[in-house]
Amino acid sequence: MGEFELIAQFFTRPQHPLGPGVELGIGDDCALLAPTPGMRLAISSDMLVQGRHFFADVDPRSLGHKALAVNLSDLAACGARPLAFTLALALPQADAAWLKAFAEGMFALADQHGCALIGGDTTQGPLNICITVFGEVPPGQALLRSGAQVGDDVYVSGTVGDAHVALQVLLGHVTLDDATFAKARQRLEQPTPRVALGQALRGIATAAADVSDGLVGDLGHILKQSGVGATLRAQDAMQLLAACAVSTGATGQFASKNASFISPELHLQSVLAGGDDYELVFTASPANCAAVQAAALASGTPVHCIGQIEAAPGLRVVDSAGQPVAQGVKAFDHFAPHKG
Ligand code: ADP
Ligand code: MG
Repeated sequence: MGEFELIAQFFTRPQHPLGPGVELGIGDDCALLAPTPGMRLAISSDMLVQGRHFFADVDPRSLGHKALAVNLSDLAACGARPLAFTLALALPQADAAWLKAFAEGMFALADQHGCALIGGDTTQGPLNICITVFGEVPPGQALLRSGAQVGDDVYVSGTVGDAHVALQVLLGHVTLDDATFAKARQRLEQPTPRVALGQALRGIATAAADVSDGLVGDLGHILKQSGVGATLRAQDAMQLLAACAVSTGATGQFASKNASFISPELHLQSVLAGGDDYELVFTASPANCAAVQAAALASGTPVHCIGQIEAAPGLRVVDSAGQPVAQGVKAFDHFAPHKG
């Protein structure tokens, strides 16, 4: 199969509407975007490299989903509405069954967001997938990392840490029962970009980022760019892990209900430092607490307040008695307050 046959067969959808923001799609030297007049274009690229971001034998349908999901997640973190995307693909060989499944996974998510594939590039080489997304956002309303204010609440959407737990299972470091693993693996391989929540938070959140490198690392970017610090409540953060429901003992200590499968240390580390969740971490004034909950409800995405923004730089994680969580500090690279 030649390059053009491959593009025509798997990535061109002549019957499919391009959507209001796109004037010309695949087939010419350039695509033409027609953003709503007055809106700002929001643009982001993410590359997935075999061996670095995914295993060679990953399900191609999931890979197609994830390659687009991680990009849509960046638009979500800016509060932008997706318009279109391009796909630059290096493939070791043109495997029709693989390409079909990859395209299906990618287009299923694209169609959920009315986001058309408008172009790209295809070449032979080690498997490498680079997507660029284009979105739009009203002037002055993009959610930036630099807007967090002292006194703001720190929120996280959905669940965090499950992708890391699934990775530990795939690497053979821990074992989980099949049902729990299946749920965690779904989070690793088919993350849900919080596109509706990001748009609903425009004018409400003071700062936002998506959780790709781990909660503490990505919140760290907000803290650094906003010139503030924060305290997180370990107790509330641990509730974010979906795979292992947590319980509070009489001592106030946290124990995982699945403690035979996952240690409290791995639990906390997965939540704070595990990556690949593609949730949103954001800040908002306590005065906007009801507005945040309304945005969560309107977008069908739960959000949880897990801490507060403070003037003192750096990030502190405390237990229910307000004491610093000392456990595993050396393992938590991301604890460094100004990780670059
Ligand atoms: P050029 O040589 O001008 O860069 P190509 O011959 O590489 O164009 O591609 C032909 C058309 O197919 C272009 O419109 C390009 O955007 C599109 N295209 C190429 N690869 C892909 C891909 N993987 N997904 C979507 N569109 C693609
Ligand atoms: Mg080309």
